[in-house]
Amino acid sequence: MGEADPLAWLKKREELRRAAGLERRLRVRRDPAGPVLVDFASNDYLGLARDPRLVEAAHAAALEHGWGAGASPLVSGWTGAHEELAKSLARFEHAEAVALFPTGYAANLGVIAALVGRGDVVYGDRLNHSCLVQGVRMAGASLRVYPHGDAASLRRTLERDGGRFRRRLIATDGVFSMDGDLAPLVELCELADAFDAMLLVDEAHGTGVFGADGRGAAAELGVEDRVHIRVGTLSKSLGSVGGFVAGSRRLVDHLVNEAPTLLFSTAMPPPVAAAAHRALEISLAEPWRRGRVHDLGRRVREELRGQGWQVPESTGPIVPVIVGDPREALAVSSTLEAAGFLVPAIRPPTVPRGTARSRISLSATHTDEQVSGLIDAMGRRA
Ligand SMILES: *Cc1c(COP(=O)(O)O)cnc(C)c1O
Repeated sequence: MGEADPLAWLKKREELRRAAGLERRLRVRRDPAGPVLVDFASNDYLGLARDPRLVEAAHAAALEHGWGAGASPLVSGWTGAHEELAKSLARFEHAEAVALFPTGYAANLGVIAALVGRGDVVYGDRLNHSCLVQGVRMAGASLRVYPHGDAASLRRTLERDGGRFRRRLIATDGVFSMDGDLAPLVELCELADAFDAMLLVDEAHGTGVFGADGRGAAAELGVEDRVHIRVGTLSKSLGSVGGFVAGSRRLVDHLVNEAPTLLFSTAMPPPVAAAAHRALEISLAEPWRRGRVHDLGRRVREELRGQGWQVPESTGPIVPVIVGDPREALAVSSTLEAAGFLVPAIRPPTVPRGTARSRISLSATHTDEQVSGLIDAMGRRA
C-alpha cells in the first residue's frame, strides 16, 4: 500500500496508442535547427495569421489597454477593444448582437450549456466537432447523433421523439472540419421550423471563406436569417483567437447572464480582440483572398484525383485525402515532410475508423509554386 503508482494505468494506455499508430505529440512548428516546412496544416485560410497589420493593431491596443483583460468580461474584462469587435462582428453577421468568448471551443460549450439542460435534447451530426458533443455532456441534456448530413434520418428521430423532451436543439458544424463539406442547412432549417427546435450552426470553418462577404455556410446556402444561433471563431480565417455567438439581442443577453464559459472565464486580451477586428476589416476589403483559396481548392482536388488519390466531394480550403489506415496516413505525412511540406495525418478518434486521412489546408497566401510542389510530392497513389 502506498507504493503503487495511481497513474500506472497511463502506461498501458500509451502502449495501446502506440501499437495502433494513434500516438500524438506536440511539435514546435519552426524548429530553428530543422528545415522550414510550407504550412498546409493551419486553418489560416485567408493568410492573415502572420499579417503585419494584425500585429500593428495588437501593438496599438496593448499600448492603450495593456496586455491582459484581468477578469471575466462581466467583472472588469470588457474594454473598448472588445466592444468594438463585438459591434463589428454583429454588423458583419447581420445580427442584432454578438457575445464574445475566450475561444470557439468555449463558445460552443457555453452556448449549449445556457440553452439546454436535463430534460432537453440535442440532435447532432455524427461528424460534429468535439466541442458540440462536450457541450451537450456539460449541459446534462440527452444527445441524439444522426448519420453525417442525413436530414431524412434526423426527421425520423424527431418524429419518434414526439413530446418526450422539454426543449430541442439541432446543432451542426456549418463546414465539417475534417471533410470540408457543408451541412444540409436548408433541410435542417425546415426541420427546426417543423419541430419547433432551436438551430445552432458552428461556422468555425465557414467564416471568411463561404457565403457573401465570407459570412459562412448559412449565408452560402441562403439561410442565415433562419439560423437562430450562429457560432464563430476568430482563430481560423480571422487569424487570431477567440469565439463568438451571433444572434438576437435577447439571446446574447441570455448568454451574458447564463453561459458559464463567458461568466466565469477571463476575457480575451484586448490586443487579441483588436487583431481579430483588423482581420475582419481586411477580409472584407480584400475579397481576392476568398476567391484565391477557392481556386486553389479546385486545383488541388482535381490534380490529386488525377493522380489516383481518393478526394471526397467538397469545396473550399479543406482538402481531405482519404487513405484509410492510420499508419499509411502517417507515412504520407513523413514523405511530404521530407519534401518540405507540413500536412497532418488525421486519425481516429478525430475521424471515424477506416477513414484516416491527410488533411490539406489551403491558404490564400500559398503560392502557385508551393501548391505545385505539394502535388508533385504527393505523387501517384501507390
Ligand atoms: C476549431 C473548431 C472549433 C474551436 O474553435 P477554437 O477557436 O479553436 O477553440 C469549434 N468548432 C469547430 C467546427 C472547429 O473546427
